[in-house]
Amino acid sequence: MKITDHIKNANGKTLFSFEIVPPQKGVGIADLYKNIDPLMEFNPPFIDVTTSREEYIFLERGNGLMERKITRMRPGTLGICSAIQNKYNVDTVPHVLCGGFTKEETEYLLVDCMYLGINNIVALRGDAMKGEKYFEQSKGGHKYASDLVKQIHDLGTGKYLHEEIVQCEENSSFCIGVAGYPEKHIEAPSMNYDLQMLKKKVEAGADYIVTQMFFDNQKFFDFVKQAREIGIDVPIIPGIKPIATKGHLQMLPQVFKIDLPENLISEVLKCKTNSDVREVGIEWAINQCKELLDFGIPVLHFYSMGKSDNILKIGREVF
Ligand code: FAD
Repeated sequence: MKITDHIKNANGKTLFSFEIVPPQKGVGIADLYKNIDPLMEFNPPFIDVTTSREEYIFLERGNGLMERKITRMRPGTLGICSAIQNKYNVDTVPHVLCGGFTKEETEYLLVDCMYLGINNIVALRGDAMKGEKYFEQSKGGHKYASDLVKQIHDLGTGKYLHEEIVQCEENSSFCIGVAGYPEKHIEAPSMNYDLQMLKKKVEAGADYIVTQMFFDNQKFFDFVKQAREIGIDVPIIPGIKPIATKGHLQMLPQVFKIDLPENLISEVLKCKTNSDVREVGIEWAINQCKELLDFGIPVLHFYSMGKSDNILKIGREVF
């Protein structure tokens, strides 16, 4: 079922969902299941599976020569989506990127999704590759997420890249999610500019928005208000990440380009052990979630990053 239909059917009740990251190549899926199992008590109607960008590795070729090869350390997004969908009977949402994929490869992936009964997609541009300063459009690929949204939307109406194919299946269109940034995307010159670009994604066919993680709800409230003011009327789903280690104080702002509130930083700094930090993160997220529920949100979406014990505790407090 489409995410937007799950939201409609919930009749104003906030739903629970979460995002997982495929394991590193060579690691089995069992650990992933161990972390998903406990979260099924909240009846998530959907689970997102991220896609990683390709990266360069250097291989020794003897006589001092190195060969640069492209690899993907966490492949298998679609396979994991299908496995989870079958095991838990929930919808899964693969993240699809512009970076690293030609338009044709994207089309084939979407066709696979149709065969697998996956009709929700989160469409993203992707970041720059490791070691590169700026995002480079891949040869034959898309430059912006809005272009990818248009391709996915077109395919759902029977317009393939090089052919027009009349579809006989009803309901073969995709429900498309896109990313939103309550603290602005790092490359955007202003918040207003970024919101206009977000609107472009909705005009291209996006059905809902999932936000980057944030730790200060006011930023989310302002973001929603500004989005509504410029006519963005699709559901906006907040993304929540509980802080879990002291290292997150540096890592989260660096990787996700977000700020952390002063009082959260000072609470984390007071902690003696990592389990104390986890407790602070849980407490903070519980308060955030309760306030978001009062505000009225369609879904609380958690970034699990592979560990679910803290999300389980948060979910039990707020659902
Ligand atoms: P876009 O919407 O294309 O925006 C990128 C920048 O270009 C912005 O600054 C925007 O203002 C600007 N822009 C957009 N359209 C235009 C235009 N038409 N003209 C001029 N400027 C424009 N990354 C992964 O690699 N894998 C994942 O699975 C993944 N999942 C994510 C899930 C969520 C919910 C979020 C919030 C992010 C995720 N990311 C993921 C990270 C994402 O790929 C990066 O944040 C990336 O830098 C931007 O992606 P985007 O889709 O928002 O890009």
